Amino acid sequence: MKATNGAGGPCRFCGRLPRSGAPRVPGPAGPICLDCVRAGLRVVGDGEERTNEAGERLDAVSDLQAPVCEFCGRRERRTFLGFRRPLVRLRCAPRDAVICVDCLDSAGDALNLALRS
Ligand SMILES: [Zn+2]
Ligand SMILES: [Zn+2]
Repeated sequence: MKATNGAGGPCRFCGRLPRSGAPRVPGPAGPICLDCVRAGLRVVGDGEERTNEAGERLDAVSDLQAPVCEFCGRRERRTFLGFRRPLVRLRCAPRDAVICVDCLDSAGDALNLALRS
């Protein structure tokens, strides 16, 4: 994953357009912004709901019926022995936006890199 700024329209998880120069991480359905990555990492970290900058609910889902991560298409992890384990995902239900914990981590790394340079 690599951070960019303008491309891709509003953030999938809060609907805001980027401030000039603010890095975001592009995804197949649209980008995710820094505020949503930060809030999302807290949500998947402790399972507590948060709200995005638009006041909408961000929550964590892990069941296999819930939608796949729109960034990587997964909803489960396969272990070495072939067991399947649910993959925790961040969801913004009003926007049908979903990203898994692995993609959130990668997005956080990409944004840190972009902010440091
Ligand atoms: Zn956002
Ligand atoms: Zn993912």
